[in-house]
Amino acid sequence: MPLTPPQPSTEIYRVRVAVPVHLYDTFDYSVSQQQYEQAQAGARVLVSFGRQSLIGVITEKLAPDLPIDPRFQLKTIRELIDQAPILDTKVLTLLTWSAHYYQFPIGEVIQTALPSLLRQGKSQDVLTYIWKITAHPEAESKLKRSQKQYDAYQILKLHPTGTTETILNLSGVETATLRALAKKELVACTQEIQDFTPMPVQLAQMPLTPNPDQHNAIQRVLKSLHHYQAFLLDGLTGSGKTEVYLQIMHEVLKQGKQVLVLVPEIGLTPQTISRFKSRFHCDVALLHSGLNDSKRLQAWQQAKMGKASIILGTRSAIYTPLPRLGLIILDEEHDLSYKQQEGFRYHARDVALYRGYLEQCPVILGSATPSIDSYHLVEQNKLELLQLNQRAGVALLPKMHLIDLKVAKKNEGLSQILIDQIQHTLDRQEQVLIFLNRRGYAPVLVCESCGWQANCPNCDAHFTLHTQPYGYLHCHHCGTIHRLPETCPECHHHTLKTLGMGTAKVEEHLKTLFPEHDVIRVDRDSTSRVGSWQKIYDRIQHNKPMILLGTQMLAKGHHFPYVTLVAILDIDAGLLSVDVRAPERTAQLIVQVAGRAGRGEHKGHVYMQTLRPDHPMLTTLIEKDYRAVAKDMLEERKAARLPPYRYSVLIRCESRDRDYSQAFLQEIAQMLQHQAGDSIEIWGPIPAPMERKAGRYRAHMVILAQDRARLHFFLRPWWAEVIQLPRQHQLRLSIDVDPQEFN
Ligand code: ADP
Ligand code: ZN
Ligand code: ZN
Repeated sequence: MPLTPPQPSTEIYRVRVAVPVHLYDTFDYSVSQQQYEQAQAGARVLVSFGRQSLIGVITEKLAPDLPIDPRFQLKTIRELIDQAPILDTKVLTLLTWSAHYYQFPIGEVIQTALPSLLRQGKSQDVLTYIWKITAHPEAESKLKRSQKQYDAYQILKLHPTGTTETILNLSGVETATLRALAKKELVACTQEIQDFTPMPVQLAQMPLTPNPDQHNAIQRVLKSLHHYQAFLLDGLTGSGKTEVYLQIMHEVLKQGKQVLVLVPEIGLTPQTISRFKSRFHCDVALLHSGLNDSKRLQAWQQAKMGKASIILGTRSAIYTPLPRLGLIILDEEHDLSYKQQEGFRYHARDVALYRGYLEQCPVILGSATPSIDSYHLVEQNKLELLQLNQRAGVALLPKMHLIDLKVAKKNEGLSQILIDQIQHTLDRQEQVLIFLNRRGYAPVLVCESCGWQANCPNCDAHFTLHTQPYGYLHCHHCGTIHRLPETCPECHHHTLKTLGMGTAKVEEHLKTLFPEHDVIRVDRDSTSRVGSWQKIYDRIQHNKPMILLGTQMLAKGHHFPYVTLVAILDIDAGLLSVDVRAPERTAQLIVQVAGRAGRGEHKGHVYMQTLRPDHPMLTTLIEKDYRAVAKDMLEERKAARLPPYRYSVLIRCESRDRDYSQAFLQEIAQMLQHQAGDSIEIWGPIPAPMERKAGRYRAHMVILAQDRARLHFFLRPWWAEVIQLPRQHQLRLSIDVDPQEFN
């Protein structure tokens, strides 16, 4: 019987690809039948795009009978890079949702989720150094002399099939120790494609006995381990939230699942991380921006292949593929760094909630100062509230005091009351923490003769005067640096004078007031060298009187057991800001900074200097607590119909021509108002709080709506139209859904 030759297929096989370009569409490419069979959503492909070759990700395989859009010429993909998808369907769904919700191009959104080596088309397979014990007969006797080697060997024994150098390093085993063991032929090292079998999870440390609040919180989450439920763990600073996380994690890990823990900034919370790592023997993957490309890919692979049981990361780690995800924890949920402030402006907290829903696992948001947004979700029963009402262990909550700067006797910006308190604290051999959120020497330089002020030529802002390592003027908004003039550039008199104070000036002043004590300044200028913060941190942990002085960096989650006095020098800036969220941020900051006081055996005191001692937010905070402040703010926002009681979108527009950005916003505002009618309200266009920045004029427009679905129904087509409009004068336009800052 004659064989019929295989029939050439008449069908055109296509895949839909998200290409990393700033365009809102996905693009269809044709593939061979064989490629079509191999191709999977979430796999990378090499495609031609214009004159470039780009690496995109397949979002969808199109059914062969789906009609072809005749307007576009169908190109063929150049190469199918991955046999197996690098992003699973849930993460792909999460990314697609994020792109839609935040109105950002899907191709660029997907880039956020990928380690840079994968973006560059590198292979998924990572070669790693694997260390493994040998069957040396005299191992134990050869280990007698070195405790380090002995400890390392014990850890290696827990991994009979070998484990990676990264994981060993994370468990505190240094590479040098491994090399020494290799010299003695007790361990061997190979380079291989990693085995992704997870190691069994073991407790490395005994859990603490939970107090009744902790017990209740733990039990309530444990009841919801197998479906989506979101919780707000609202616990005072030092109330033992971390212990609650750890005990819940233990149950999840015991079931063979993975836990994703998000923290605001890895570099600033070393002890939180070490607490997570030291409780369990298991594989931990750290995902943050401080890693080099290959380390990041390796950690990502361990997470994605299910090897790592605990994944600890910052914002973008929310998009890591995790095959066995069983719990998401987002610590310090109020922290602004969860919201990306440029480009793809997603909020990791909201993405985390959606991810929990997709994965059907619980999500815990924790904070001592929950965001107003989260309290609102509690009101709507979208978050279940778990409260911890007392400090765990022995420590008491600090006592807060206000110092009225209008009447206080002052010495260079420090009130005499405060100076006395600092002296008493140091005399008691305790530590002082002084908070001032302004780095540099002084925020203003003026001429006393003619009134000239040193202003940035490109921004509506003063130059900050810096004195270290030499004197210069620096704009903190655009980075412009100018030489420090010796005389006034206008009247040429020697009458230049600083106003206000930055951390460097306060440091100088404190050193003259307390010459016999250490004054340590912690800000971006003093800790820019790698490891310098760690050194400072270690010094603080010693029981020695000293003064710590710093910015925001000092406020976050640190445990300083010997600090008993906290002073906040200038909170008024936060009270006077026009941003609706400014009072919320100020209250959070005060409580977080105050939470650094009295974490040891001695009670802490917090002193705040202000010109507004009768400000209602301050008095409520002192007489009651943060929760009372939050309650007031919820009521105020509700009355004013402000977010979170309405959904908001901020459109930012910048141009070198001042009128042009306003006119452009006016035009697009009319378009939207025309389409959406009274389902939305538009505010503006108005100039941004700092109208000119880096030589550009900036204008804002805010869209408010009661109904989120209706808002997005109109937003999407409108924005698609807006970005197609011809623009002049180098107009820069961006959209910020659920904005956190109006700057
Ligand atoms: P938070 O994360 O809420 O700021 P931590 O988890 O850091 O609080 O706890 C503060 C301190 O209290 C830590 O030193 C911790 O070891 C201790 N602690 C927490 N829970 C308990 C408990 N149940 N019993 C005793 N000490 C506890
Ligand atoms: Zn002058
Ligand atoms: Zn500037």
